[in-house]
Amino acid sequence: MTDATTTSTDGIPTEPAPVDLLVVGAHPDDAEYGMGGTLMRHHHAGHRIGVVDLTRGELGTKGSPQQRADEARAAAALYGASFRHGLDLGDNRVTSAPATVEMLAAVIRAAQPTLVCTHLSEDRHPDHRTAADLVRRAVFAAALASLELTIDGDVVGHHVADGLLHFPTDRVIDGDVLVDVSDVWDARLDTMRAFGSQFTAPTAAIDHTLYGIDDYLEVAATRARAHGQRIGVRYAEAFTSDRGLAADDLVALVRR
Ligand SMILES: [Zn+2]
Repeated sequence: MTDATTTSTDGIPTEPAPVDLLVVGAHPDDAEYGMGGTLMRHHHAGHRIGVVDLTRGELGTKGSPQQRADEARAAAALYGASFRHGLDLGDNRVTSAPATVEMLAAVIRAAQPTLVCTHLSEDRHPDHRTAADLVRRAVFAAALASLELTIDGDVVGHHVADGLLHFPTDRVIDGDVLVDVSDVWDARLDTMRAFGSQFTAPTAAIDHTLYGIDDYLEVAATRARAHGQRIGVRYAEAFTSDRGLAADDLVALVRR
């Protein structure tokens, strides 16, 4: 890392700054593909959002790392991200080794999020599975007051995030909490369309997997419709929580 004011050419800062919601994705586009509607909705609510991409996605079937980085920043601009930071851990090589945990924990301390979101442990991609474990460990490490961590030689004080949620990218889940994203659905699709190299039409089968914007959008919509049905809305995004989610008022919780 360099200094905290470093910005990319399109104005999205690349170094962590204090946010309310921090998303950690294994590859550029995972944050948007998994919870783009939730990001748009929380942006509209005035929350500060930060994104950490664990890898550059350099082993992806389509798009160069530079293309994907440019697309990721363009997507982040749609939901007003305070920063988008890359750790470059190596595509398909993400581990939750102690040094990596502490590297991410230092970023979490600098970002001071109330809520952290990352992958579901059951996702198919090994990097997604590892990310779930890595982020869980890093959130825990970030909160340890006796663990000294630094960024560029500067000590970053411990930080306790209030919640850690996990989102799926390849399945429908029951979910512990579901977010209605019906009102931001078109904008949510735009966060995916920003990744032109990944979701380029027309859809074609590559190594037995369908690639193409129409297919990705259809899959995203189908999943969101299934999640939406569970809470009686058109589109929703689902999350699991590591902890129980507290409520002060059950009537207010269920009122529509
Ligand atoms: Zn991914």
